[in-house]
Amino acid sequence: MTSTRSFQTGVAHRPSVVVAARDADDVVAALARAGRDDLRVTVHSTGHGLRRPCTDGLLLDTAPMARVTVDPRSRTARAGAGATWGDVVAAAAPHGLRPPHGSAPSVGVAGYLFGGGLGLTVRADGWAADHVRAIELARATGTVRVCAESDPRCFARLRGTGPDDGDVVTAVHLGLLPSAGLVGGGLVRVLGPADSPGDPAPLYAWADWSARLPDDVSSGVSVVGYPDLPFLPAHLRGRRVLRVGVVGTGGTGRTDTLLAPLRAAVAWDDDTVGPLDPRDSARVYAEPEVPHAYLGDDVLVDGLDRAGLARVVSRTGPMVVTGIRHLGGAAGRPPAVADTVRGRDAAYCVNALAPFGDDVTAASAWSVVDDVLDGFSGRATTEGTHPSFRYGPPRPGTA
Ligand SMILES: Cc1cc2nc3c(=O)[nH]c(=O)nc-3n(C[C@H](O)[C@H](O)[C@H](O)COP(=O)(O)OP(=O)(O)OC[C@H]3O[C@@H](n4cnc5c(N)ncnc54)[C@H](O)[C@@H]3O)c2cc1C
Repeated sequence: MTSTRSFQTGVAHRPSVVVAARDADDVVAALARAGRDDLRVTVHSTGHGLRRPCTDGLLLDTAPMARVTVDPRSRTARAGAGATWGDVVAAAAPHGLRPPHGSAPSVGVAGYLFGGGLGLTVRADGWAADHVRAIELARATGTVRVCAESDPRCFARLRGTGPDDGDVVTAVHLGLLPSAGLVGGGLVRVLGPADSPGDPAPLYAWADWSARLPDDVSSGVSVVGYPDLPFLPAHLRGRRVLRVGVVGTGGTGRTDTLLAPLRAAVAWDDDTVGPLDPRDSARVYAEPEVPHAYLGDDVLVDGLDRAGLARVVSRTGPMVVTGIRHLGGAAGRPPAVADTVRGRDAAYCVNALAPFGDDVTAASAWSVVDDVLDGFSGRATTEGTHPSFRYGPPRPGTA
């Protein structure tokens, strides 16, 4: 990926200057130059969370700062700000360790942590923010290492909200988790033609099952309506598909026992849940890894009602993908070190995402997303939304 290319293709950068930073000194120099030349700075990593383009400013690409080092004795890693979670997973795996990463290995370390980081084992291990030990920052005036003791306000903002203006993260120091006992994969059920009303029973079964789980199993669902296009596999073409992603940390026997009621409740078309190597964890949610144009939003809720779930199934067609992640457990406990993570009082995070471009305008994609999310507004927590699952250009008429 070159400096101006992004996973999000629906928002295009048009900078007047691009700086590909190799280290913190390059970042400091770029920030100083931007100050002298009165250029607005936009930091770019992978572009998964890109919402506003850089126009006529300085685009600072962190991708070259992707070095990851692991200290197996202290079970910690230092990840350069340009690293992806796939890079950290690959560096930690030979030591039997794993980071608190999310569903897609191509997501960047820094941007994910700004939202707190809803990881694959969030109910067992808490938010990724809970595992951050220190963050290295560059400013126009030099570099600084921020931790709970040195600057509690800044450290809390970086873990849940994002950096202050003018601060650029150059590296992150993380605690790592043991990989032993990790079990995961997907349960897939084809719900019928994408343009039929659809059967919500498998989604109800997941919701009922998840509400009774102990903390060592984390799960989520996605409901996807595949268009009837010739390049898609025949069994998906024009079908609406439910996928449950499951990750347990208690080993195969225990996870199988906990999974048994869900396995029995639905005639699954595919079941890949088994021992999980963290390097293979993209198969849990099987999200697309191809850059595309998408927008979306989310709502944090204190529970799931049948009406909202039925709406997910009936409204999810080729125009929208809906995801629901189970929170609670360790994700619901107060943090040991103050942070600004949203979602500790939520039971689930519901996210709707719509592709746009060509013959679909952003305005019509937003109306489909809002139509799905409206079904959950009655159960929204006071925090309302989680910042990581807000994608693409803002709704028309909003800043
Ligand atoms: C397919 C997919 C799967 C996802 N799965 C999960 C998941 O499981 N859990 C979860 O919590 N989130 C998930 N996300 C959301 C993701 O965490 C956010 O989109 C996040 O913003 C991506 O960060 P990035 O660095 O990859 O992207 P970018 O778009 O490059 O960066 C995001 C924001 O951070 C800023 N930024 C990036 N690096 C720096 C830096 N070094 N210093 C200062 N500012 C910086 C950018 O300017 C931008 O505003 C997913 C997103 C996608 C598209």
